[in-house]
Amino acid sequence: MNDMTYNVHSVAENVWGIQEGRMVTAYLVVGSKCALLIDAGGALPAMREQAESITDLPIILTLTHGHDDHILCISQFEKAHIDSADMYLVESSSVNKGNCQLVPVEEGHIFDLGDRQIETIALRGHTRGGLAYLDRKNRLLFSGDTINLGPIFMFMEESSLDTLISELEKFDAMDSFDQVFPAHNVHPIGRERIKDIISCAKAVKDGSLEGIKPPAGMPPMPEQVKLYMKDGCGLLY
Ligand SMILES: [Zn+2]
Repeated sequence: MNDMTYNVHSVAENVWGIQEGRMVTAYLVVGSKCALLIDAGGALPAMREQAESITDLPIILTLTHGHDDHILCISQFEKAHIDSADMYLVESSSVNKGNCQLVPVEEGHIFDLGDRQIETIALRGHTRGGLAYLDRKNRLLFSGDTINLGPIFMFMEESSLDTLISELEKFDAMDSFDQVFPAHNVHPIGRERIKDIISCAKAVKDGSLEGIKPPAGMPPMPEQVKLYMKDGCGLLY
């Protein structure tokens, strides 16, 4: 943890991943007029500096959801866009919010970056107010924790396995993106992996998949939580 550093790398044309060690990845999508920073990091203290090392354009911050590992540096920004259903997670967090104003954003909102538009789409399941961001022109989807090879944390009070399955089916049926950029683990992943995550989640739901005790080194979680793995996808439930 102490030797963790930022790894800033190009992931698509004018899109950068700002990764903290092997942990969380925020994305900076740079347009002709301004840039959109998707998430604010969770382990290292200089997200704004990292984003400003990539572009001189104004930077708009938006969040995929309200968990601590996505909001650490929000105090470095005047505003953070977030779904109103996830605001309570930020408000109740011990993360320093400084003077950052939480701005509610909903499905359908479009961030106009000049030569590229980023659409906001609800992506619930992991939390109640999860959002994904779609670059339709370039067929890229930024999915936060909800589409991710995992393990996806699904044991929390704000998580719903039924919602996760129906939301993943909704995204699987969309024909507007090819590559998915999750906030954790490998990126990008191909859209075909959504089917694998659905299959894993359904097997957890119907009890056909056996869970194991989560390995040591994971964040603290309730005793009864098990790790479920299938086809390279994982859930903690
Ligand atoms: Zn999360």
